Amino acid sequence: MLTDSFGRTATDLRVSLTDRCNLRCSYCMPAEGLDWLPGPDLLTDDELLRIVGLAVTRLGITEVRFTGGEPLLRRGLAGIVARVAALKPRPGISLTTNGIGLARLAGPLREAGLDRINVSLDTLTPSVFKLLARRDRLGDVIAGLAAAAAAGLAPVKVNAVLMRGVNDHETVPLLRFCLERDYELRFIEQMPLDAQHGWRRAEMVTADEILAALSAEFALTADDPAERGSAPAEAYLVDGGPARVGVIGSVTRPFCGACDRIRLTADGQLRNCLFARTENDLRAPLRAGASDDELVAIWQRCIRAKLPGHGINDPGFLQPSRPMSAIGG
Ligand code: SAM
Ligand code: SF4
Repeated sequence: MLTDSFGRTATDLRVSLTDRCNLRCSYCMPAEGLDWLPGPDLLTDDELLRIVGLAVTRLGITEVRFTGGEPLLRRGLAGIVARVAALKPRPGISLTTNGIGLARLAGPLREAGLDRINVSLDTLTPSVFKLLARRDRLGDVIAGLAAAAAAGLAPVKVNAVLMRGVNDHETVPLLRFCLERDYELRFIEQMPLDAQHGWRRAEMVTADEILAALSAEFALTADDPAERGSAPAEAYLVDGGPARVGVIGSVTRPFCGACDRIRLTADGQLRNCLFARTENDLRAPLRAGASDDELVAIWQRCIRAKLPGHGINDPGFLQPSRPMSAIGG
């Protein structure tokens, strides 16, 4: 088991499949993009499967979420999903995506064994999408969402990040859009993880503000907190339910005490937190012929060093050197 020195056990592995992306969301990346990882640095499918296989069969990982960068850009994604689905015990398999290309891929991914999906959608207005994501692709995302639902990846979850003066007037329209289609919406507070270090606390739209905007239009009742477990989203029933909306107050309502996550970057570095300032290299030992036991020992070293919290609210907080897109959000 991957238990840290504060008694938390990691069971949820976030796997970044690529640091590349076809959008440039301004809370994540600069307009010009980033220097992508060179191809040979990325774990091959076989290397990835060896590492994930160990995590599932030896270390108690029960949920594998693929992310990035944009994971749909990874060649052979459906094949990777199928190989993870063949592991015993079979882990839950989920994907976080910007939805571009999902219209074509949702069916094959579902058939390969994908269980759940989160699609990021921050606005319903094409001009705002173009401003925020710096590409004119709103139609592709909406089509991707519909394809995911049609493929049986229900309930489709939608992630939205609000930026002050950009899309924060769309809090209510986003929820209406999701309610009408049975998508489960979760708002995420903007975190200091952008490559250009542009995050400003005063510009972040807080969980309190999001709840106030929603409460002006809908009756929200807090869902049973016992149901929350390690889930980062605080869930609310909308107008008595059964529809729900979530708010992930990563900054103002940290949930580190219940964290059950660990992360693997596309270049084979293990991270015990999004905000960790150190990584444990799995790729070099793996390529040098390390045994399974040696690789397992690296996982255990990594989890033992996990800090109690992300520290964003501490005066000495320093952003991690890699941005969200390279860590895997
Ligand atoms: N490209 C995929 C996507 O956008 O869904 C997967 C990777 S992205 C890094 C994963 C999630 O992180 C998305 O929902 C995105 O909105 C969110 N995200 C990115 N940067 C963020 C930030 N600075 N603060 C909060 N959430 C962020
Ligand atoms: Fe790409 Fe996702 Fe970052 Fe947007 S949030 S730039 S879609 S990795």
